[in-house]
Amino acid sequence: MRGILTIERGEVYDPQPLGERNLIAGGGRTLAVEAAAGSMGLPRERHIDAGGLRVIPGLIDQHLHLIGGGDGNGISGRVPELDARTVLAGGTTTAVGVLGVETVTRGLLLLLRKTQELRAGGLSAFMYTAGMPLPAQNMLGTVFADVSLIDQVLGAKTAISESLHPNTDPHLLAALAGELMRARTMTGKAAVLHCHVGGLEAALEPLFALHEKLRMPLAQIVPTHVNRTEAFSPVFAHAMRFAEMGGIIDLTCCVSRIDGNPTGIDIPDAVRRCLDAGLPIERITFSSDANVPVAVRAADGSLSGYRTAPPSVLFRDLMRLVREAELPLETALLPVTTNPARVLGLVGRKGAIRPGYDADYVLIDPSDRIRYVIAGGEIVFEAE
Ligand SMILES: [Zn+2]
Repeated sequence: MRGILTIERGEVYDPQPLGERNLIAGGGRTLAVEAAAGSMGLPRERHIDAGGLRVIPGLIDQHLHLIGGGDGNGISGRVPELDARTVLAGGTTTAVGVLGVETVTRGLLLLLRKTQELRAGGLSAFMYTAGMPLPAQNMLGTVFADVSLIDQVLGAKTAISESLHPNTDPHLLAALAGELMRARTMTGKAAVLHCHVGGLEAALEPLFALHEKLRMPLAQIVPTHVNRTEAFSPVFAHAMRFAEMGGIIDLTCCVSRIDGNPTGIDIPDAVRRCLDAGLPIERITFSSDANVPVAVRAADGSLSGYRTAPPSVLFRDLMRLVREAELPLETALLPVTTNPARVLGLVGRKGAIRPGYDADYVLIDPSDRIRYVIAGGEIVFEAE
């Protein structure tokens, strides 16, 4: 750990706009957020002049295929693993890794090992245990044990309304939910059920049933990909209902027309539709689903190839929310900072620029490009 880092005269969004501030970081944490006028006495061990730059909290990506995915694409799903620098350079300083469809060779132990490697590279890396199929896979004998005993594990992934993993037995989903509710009660961790929603007609019905029949707290259930298949399932309407009930829904980047998928709703449109329906921005998160091969389809729906989205689509869509959906930066930031921190049980440590929080910052220039990324008080990326 190196010495104190000072960032001077940046326009700080904590995510709320604070105006020009000096930041002092040390020991991996933010130590002080001070009025810029008092810069005379700042320590000069390591120093960034942030005049003209905006400083935002490091982004949180709660669905990232750190070891690749193989999203039903067979051998073309064998994309390379991500390295820490690629994730950090995109402005993401906290990432939760998930398994994809290919779980034979890309399993939980590899994902756990990957989080260790990425942590050594400066990224705050976490993971979900289990994966799309039920009964849920795990590492230590049960999902409960994984969440209880492994620091990196923040919850479990599963799939509903997905033809590749039909999971039609509600008892298996209930068993997983019970393990997670027990883990949340006994460990104080978020123990979230991170739920891939496929394109089948049932959409979010299995999650409504978990809430109604098992009294699973909505705050513990995260339906993701809910903007992916509106063209052929009621998933987006169900998601709006879930959010109206008080739940938080997770939208996925790169599932829309601009990324070659005509069936999904683009992030700026999806967020705008939620807000126009009266949903508070606090009920929305979005995540990248990066490093998994995404099908590219022609206008008639036929498959024309695959592409892999980089982790930086999260930052891209944050800035598009400002430019295209015309949200103030402080509002657009919530779905990728404080909202996912709340979902993942990381409040007090992640998602905000406050004394005591991890010193994770992204410095943005007037052209909306990333100039610096700071993670744990270290400069981990600097634009040339
Ligand atoms: Zn995914």
